Amino acid sequence: MAYFTDEQLGMFRRLLETQKEELIQEAGRTVNEMMAEHEDHFADPADRASWESQSTRDLRIRDRERKLLEKIDEAIQRIDDKVFGECEECGEMISIGRLKARPVTTLCINCKSEQESKENKPNYKG
Ligand SMILES: [Zn+2]
Repeated sequence: MAYFTDEQLGMFRRLLETQKEELIQEAGRTVNEMMAEHEDHFADPADRASWESQSTRDLRIRDRERKLLEKIDEAIQRIDDKVFGECEECGEMISIGRLKARPVTTLCINCKSEQESKENKPNYKG
């Protein structure tokens, strides 16, 4: 069942594709910075330790980016399948305001808050 007009779906698709491009550019920048730091810091063992903790942080960022990229691809697939905007938990339509703010979301606000209270993470923003 299609919730949105083709025009609205096109708008969400552009939003998602822009986010995807920005993420890829951001990920590329992080790798380049890491390589530059790598060359500068290898002489001193203390600096090397600091580089290693920094690179661990960067790897986590890339892991988070990779997961978000997967979510973006899934959201684009849902647009193609014309099921975009449907809550995967209860099947209700997710509000357009929520989708505009976070187009990769797959849960309506009610199911999301229920999930958050189950996970007991009050600061978790999904
Ligand atoms: Zn729901």
